Amino acid sequence: MQELKKADITIEMAPKYVKYECPYCGNEVEADYSDFEDERMSDYWPEWEGDTVICDECGAEFRIGKVEVD
Ligand SMILES: [Zn+2]
Repeated sequence: MQELKKADITIEMAPKYVKYECPYCGNEVEADYSDFEDERMSDYWPEWEGDTVICDECGAEFRIGKVEVD
């Protein structure tokens, strides 16, 4: 009997949402990843640091600090 060949598989994890705590209103905000990404100047998240975000809760503008992947 012939051995079947093997292939490794890769599971691609898609980002779901972005979470931040607004530095002005203090709310924990969850934004849909694709909506959040659409508003960024780059669609490559490691380049998001320093980009300006408008808080979904209070409308205040703040800058992105560190970006962490959970
Ligand atoms: Zn806010």
